[in-house]
Amino acid sequence: MPTKTLASACTLDCPDTCSLDVEVTENKITRIGASDVNPITQGFICSKVSRFAERVYSPDRLLYPMKRVGEKGAGKFTRISWDEAVGTICERFKEIKNEWGGEAILPYSYGGSNALLGQDTSDRAFFAKLGASRLARTVCAAPTSEAAQGMYGKMPGTAFEDYVHAKFILIWGANPKASNIHLVPYLKKARAAGAKIAVVDPKLNFSEKEIDLHLPVYPGTDVVVALALIHHWQKKGWLNWDFLGEHTKNVDVLLKKARQYPPEKAAEIAGVEAEDIKKLAEMYALHDPAVLRCGWGLERNRNGGQSVAAVLALPAVLGKFGLQGSGYTLSNSNAHKVDSRGLTDPIPWNTRIINMNKLGKVLLEENDPPIKGLFNYNCNPVATVPNQKAIIAGLQREDLFTVVSEQVMTDTARFADILLPAVTFLEQKEIKKAYGSYTLHYLDPVIEPLGEAKPNEEVFALLGRSMGWQDQAFFDDTEAYLQRVTRSTHGMGKPVQLDQLKKEKIAFFDFPGRAPVQFQNIFPWTPDGRINFAPGNLGKNPYEYLDLKRNGYPLTLISPATDKLISSTLGEFNFPKLFLVMNPGDARTRSLEKGATARIFNDLGEVFAPVQISRKIRPGVVLIPKGAWRKSSKNGLTSTALVPDDVSSVGGGACFNDARVEVAAA
Ligand code: SF4
Repeated sequence: MPTKTLASACTLDCPDTCSLDVEVTENKITRIGASDVNPITQGFICSKVSRFAERVYSPDRLLYPMKRVGEKGAGKFTRISWDEAVGTICERFKEIKNEWGGEAILPYSYGGSNALLGQDTSDRAFFAKLGASRLARTVCAAPTSEAAQGMYGKMPGTAFEDYVHAKFILIWGANPKASNIHLVPYLKKARAAGAKIAVVDPKLNFSEKEIDLHLPVYPGTDVVVALALIHHWQKKGWLNWDFLGEHTKNVDVLLKKARQYPPEKAAEIAGVEAEDIKKLAEMYALHDPAVLRCGWGLERNRNGGQSVAAVLALPAVLGKFGLQGSGYTLSNSNAHKVDSRGLTDPIPWNTRIINMNKLGKVLLEENDPPIKGLFNYNCNPVATVPNQKAIIAGLQREDLFTVVSEQVMTDTARFADILLPAVTFLEQKEIKKAYGSYTLHYLDPVIEPLGEAKPNEEVFALLGRSMGWQDQAFFDDTEAYLQRVTRSTHGMGKPVQLDQLKKEKIAFFDFPGRAPVQFQNIFPWTPDGRINFAPGNLGKNPYEYLDLKRNGYPLTLISPATDKLISSTLGEFNFPKLFLVMNPGDARTRSLEKGATARIFNDLGEVFAPVQISRKIRPGVVLIPKGAWRKSSKNGLTSTALVPDDVSSVGGGACFNDARVEVAAA
């Protein structure tokens, strides 16, 4: 049978959203590569997704519904039919609802790697109808969303391709080499054309030749460094008062706070040189166009929202907008607006909200009602959510009925009572909204679903019908959900035409033109069109710095993304061995050499991992990559076992980089 090349697009949690060409021979994927349907992704893809067929055909792939036959967590299951699986789930959920009320059931999901049919369609209708507890999906991007929404109304950001026009690029808390790789060629082109590049991050992810300045700030102190930049500009008389007067409000709140942080004071708090803060301030102020790439690293601590707000204020106080290659980029997810009310039936749902970062505690502590039923989909909390030991202990509760819908046998799936096989993005029809490039993609399946795997919209419709519910949401098929999604989605006010999207596989924007230029063809989507430096989203004390030192553990653990995993996806084969990265000085003090096994510990737990030594990580900070699976670790625990489940005051976000630890030879 000849090889066919079929069009697809990557739905994984990555800003780029590559268009793909997938080669298929005899209904089997033989190669995944880039296509030029999305010109922004420039004809190449990451090594992660080029190996995605290893997940599709993994020996760990879940192909049929199964029920648990061994102890909870032992991963022993036996095959059952879909009828039995659906019947059991409905029966158990009815029993739980009758005895404890609907709120005793918790749907648990996170949509980073999902497209638009996979979440908030029939699943929402199902859990609303049940009266289940609602989930605050806050493990990522909650503080950044609050800050960007309050200050700018989530105005679309500078397009990656426009970075080539910049003369100064500031990358703050982002690692494009791991999780935004299509920005990198634009950075290189800009630099070749003479642009200066500065990076603010506890770890340097570039070579020294690729950038001009690195500020290795201590995690959680970004807010004071950003305020010190503003302090310096204020002192030099460089604030753009014309822009501030015309386009912003409440700048006095910001400037009052900035006056408290001269560069010397901020330098002491952040563990960097005051001269470097001034150098950064001057680079930014004196170059035009200047652009800011704000990432998600700086939000992952209790000062997260305040830090993001102070960093997003930087282009505003200088008025660095209006030119191609100026402004800022954070998430562009709001550009294609999706009216979630149109995605499913309007079934009221006003039950309690549970912050997903508290899963372990919620499962273990007394609640009224307690969680007796858990439905986990699009998510692997054992590997990705803070307080890992508590989550594991909670999932081991014999009185907890757990359903997991998954593609492969993850660390969370092992704890299921009922396992449902889920399709991968290569086996389904979907619509994917990018959050980096300005594109919307249509996906057809490139292969038939493996085994009896099903897409989410079909699973929850099946469950709803089995419950005996007559709502349309449970009778709509995938095609009907495609219609619902396209009817509810608008790009710059223009509706999406499903037929055209199916034919062309991609839709672009018209700003006018394919890319926005902030304060030229796009302005803040706040109610009055102004940048608000003190929106309610930032709480009573915007820009307030909280000293995050914690009870005696001297090192801060960070857990950033790598080029091997997307959150925890692909951990089944692509990240076999956990490791710890530490600065040579910190290693020497503890008599640790490269390759030695370290014990990383705090009051929450301990993790054992071999040591890597690198000057690229600042003293006082150690690193374990995020998303690793338990099997990669010597003692079955990973970075999240050391992360407290505190949440940030802005957005209730996870505080991964608030983990304080000590490291010793194991
Ligand atoms: S993960 Fe990102 S870079 Fe890799 S294929 Fe998907 S969109 Fe492209």
